[in-house]
Amino acid sequence: MIFNTRFAPSPTGPLHLGHAYSALLAHDRARAANGQFYLRMDDIDQSRARVHWAEQIQDDLSWLGISWDGPIWSQHQRSKEYREALQRLWDMGLLYACTCTRADVKAAANAPQEGAPLMGPDGIIYPGTCRHREISNLDSRAAVRINMKNAMQHLDCDEISFIEGREKIGKNRDQMINEIGDVVLARKDMAASYHLSIVVDDKDQNITHVIRGEDLRDATFIHVLLQRLLGYPTPEYTHHKLIRDENGKRLAKRDDARAIAKFREDGASPKDIRMLVGL
Ligand code: GLU
Ligand code: ZN
Repeated sequence: MIFNTRFAPSPTGPLHLGHAYSALLAHDRARAANGQFYLRMDDIDQSRARVHWAEQIQDDLSWLGISWDGPIWSQHQRSKEYREALQRLWDMGLLYACTCTRADVKAAANAPQEGAPLMGPDGIIYPGTCRHREISNLDSRAAVRINMKNAMQHLDCDEISFIEGREKIGKNRDQMINEIGDVVLARKDMAASYHLSIVVDDKDQNITHVIRGEDLRDATFIHVLLQRLLGYPTPEYTHHKLIRDENGKRLAKRDDARAIAKFREDGASPKDIRMLVGL
């Protein structure tokens, strides 16, 4: 069996326990399967990515005993690939330009007739303010959203599903529209959003197994939808438990107290880290 997996951190902060758990799981499984383990920097958001974080992450991973195959991929060098995918979706008539700010989205979703705003993987489900705006061509001055209703119609299928362990998890057409909605595929001045870039990267790296935290399970429906629209294969997904702190609170990205660098400073060993995350 071919087994290609990856770890794709965003170099916007230190590697913390939760990341280390993801990386160790994926790495161990790849090595056990005689497969490939790739390291990829999710640095598409250049306003937040920092080279020193990328370096620190690599250093922490090496210290943990993690080795990766081939060169490290960097998303900010792959704009051309993302734009090509975006263009294909645009040619299918599934995209529209959106100029709403976060505040606009919030205000529209909070309008009295709307009831409580519904939340999806990216926050508030987009209320559709700009849906009527066709784009004559793709430019980078506006965000680009997918029209979920049209996308489901285009696929002519009633369900988006994927395999998790032995189980099939699915969302039907209405759930895709109401629980996921018109997510952003390219931000203003950015070639692609996380959803599109990660899907293109996984395809180009021939990833067969994606192993990541369960906070991303709902985002996987977006990724599978994009794979189907673009004709890419769908990998097998594993969404692991999240590592929580002593109070049961989810570890935040900026929770530097749980940064691997801090544990190293305090004299912990890689084995201690494995124990801490339950490996
Ligand atoms: N950069 C993303 C994160 O750290 C990657 C998620 C993924 O593996 O798809 O959350
Ligand atoms: Zn809009």
